[in-house]
Amino acid sequence: MPPLTPNPYSPYATADPAYRHLIPGLFGIPPAPGSLRRTACGRLAVVPDALDEGIARALGENRPEDLPEGICPDCVTAATTGRTPPGTGTGACGGCGSITGHGELCARCRQARHEAWRAGGAEPPADGPDPA
Ligand SMILES: [Zn+2]
Ligand SMILES: [Zn+2]
Repeated sequence: MPPLTPNPYSPYATADPAYRHLIPGLFGIPPAPGSLRRTACGRLAVVPDALDEGIARALGENRPEDLPEGICPDCVTAATTGRTPPGTGTGACGGCGSITGHGELCARCRQARHEAWRAGGAEPPADGPDPA
C-alpha cells in the first residue's frame, strides 16, 4: 500500500502536518471534505477529498498492522484504544475568549476562519504552519 499523503493544508490546522490524521464522522455521517474538523488525536485537520477505505477496514477489524504508512500514530492509538494523547495545555482564545486547548484560537474560531480563508479574502495568521 502506498504511503498516505497528509491532510490538506490549512493555516488554522493544529494537527501535525507530517501525518494523515483520522477524522471521525458524527453519527455515522462522514465529515465534509475540505472542512476543518477534530481529529482522533484531539487536534484539528482538514478532511481529505477521499476517505481511504483501507484505513476504515483495518481499524474496524482492529488490525493496526494493516494501516498504511504516513498515518498519525496518536490517531491510531486513539482509534484502537480510546486513549487520546495529553493536550498542549489550555488558554484563552484570542478570538472569543473561551478556554481552549488549541493554542491562540479555539476550535470554533479556527473553523470559522478556515471557512473564510477557503472562501478567499481572509489573511492567514502569522503563526500558522507553512504550506506544504
Ligand atoms: Zn492525529
Ligand atoms: Zn474562539
